[in-house]
Amino acid sequence: MSETAIKKGWIPPHSHCRVCGKSVPVNKEFCSKQCEEEAAKITQRNKRSSRLYLIIFIVLMATLLLWSFTTRGS
Ligand SMILES: [Zn+2]
Ligand SMILES: [Zn+2]
Repeated sequence: MSETAIKKGWIPPHSHCRVCGKSVPVNKEFCSKQCEEEAAKITQRNKRSSRLYLIIFIVLMATLLLWSFTTRGS
């Protein structure tokens, strides 16, 4: 790459930090250790909340199923 190409607005291939959005080398996902840890925290939190939603869904479905069984017979 030449300097003139960069001046013309050509942007070298790059990625963006998944946490703060800073530009990082293409093979990297995060700009710093802090951002990596932050992303891990977010993933952990999401995993926990999605499990909670799954449990709520199962309980809801079971209740609905039981309810349909108890009302059908009578
Ligand atoms: Zn970052
Ligand atoms: Zn960019």
